Amino acid sequence: MTGATGTGPRLLLGAPIAAEIRASVEREVTAFRGKRGYAPTLAILIVGRDAPSAVYLRQILKASAKVGIEGRLVEVPGRASAAAVRQEIERLNADPQVAGIIVQMPLPKRIPLSTVIDTLDPAKDIDGLHPRNAGLMTLGYEGFTPTTAQAAVELLKRSGIEIAGKRAVVVGRSNVVGKPAALLLLRENASVTVCHSRTADLARHVKDAEIVLVAAGSPGLIRGDMLSPGVVVVDIGINVVDDALVGDVDFKSASMVASAITPVPGGVGPVTSALLLTHLVRAAQDRAYSGAGRGNGLLQPVGSRI
Ligand code: NAP
Repeated sequence: MTGATGTGPRLLLGAPIAAEIRASVEREVTAFRGKRGYAPTLAILIVGRDAPSAVYLRQILKASAKVGIEGRLVEVPGRASAAAVRQEIERLNADPQVAGIIVQMPLPKRIPLSTVIDTLDPAKDIDGLHPRNAGLMTLGYEGFTPTTAQAAVELLKRSGIEIAGKRAVVVGRSNVVGKPAALLLLRENASVTVCHSRTADLARHVKDAEIVLVAAGSPGLIRGDMLSPGVVVVDIGINVVDDALVGDVDFKSASMVASAITPVPGGVGPVTSALLLTHLVRAAQDRAYSGAGRGNGLLQPVGSRI
């Protein structure tokens, strides 16, 4: 028997949601181009051609082109210094054509993350890395939210999963995924517990959850025997095991217990890249229509500012 209903869990697929999001982005890009006479431009900075995320970033450029967004790939050599990376970001900051900038993560070890965070214009920081955007999100204002965290929560919402009042557990507390995911769930009125590598008895916390979001980067970390029947599982992890992509959740055993679960690949990932395009369009609109970027002075409260 599988799933709480005996018919297997509902698969929370990212592709149909991503297609819906991209279609609305395409309409907005067409309207923007009609009014302004140019397409919004997304710049992607890659450090070294064989960077692990380079393939994913090139896919984002392809997806951008399909909805009419102008893409610009900026490649600096893998051996480039932190100063050279900073200089490239400054050039993109100053370029009025560029609405949003994504910098490849993780960076080579010798380039500190602060090189990017201290340099990136928060108004162009469409993946929500800058402390200003993190602060806006934390206080319940409309900044740029880290896209993967937003994708995980958006996937739940657009799949019609009730979040308000539910006990949610987030496994992982990174600034780019776990922490913002927890804040977004809180904004949706879940009661949220955040677990991490120093959590004593992870299984006990996970067992108590009605919704589990996992972003640990540890394949098979969450197994079916740790979950409660009927739980909703969102697996954000992306790991390569024996040349195959797997998440952080042991899909087979979790499927025996969960009422709904995301596959890896095919769950959160497609929604992430589609949402990034919505951020880019918003950045372009903010710049074009108000002269200010979202991170630079436009403070829009979201709901009750939770
Ligand atoms: P990260 O910076 O390495 O953070 C991992 C987090 O998981 C940390 O908070 C860590 O705890 C916690 N953790 C690690 N092992 C654990 C364990 N055994 N028990 C409990 N907690 C544990 O990684 P990240 O950037 O957040 O990414 C997380 C995962 O999401 C990775 O697999 C990554 O590839 C994936 N990802 C997916 C997408 C997507 O679009 N789907 C996008 C970005 C990232 P400590 O804080 O105590 O170290």
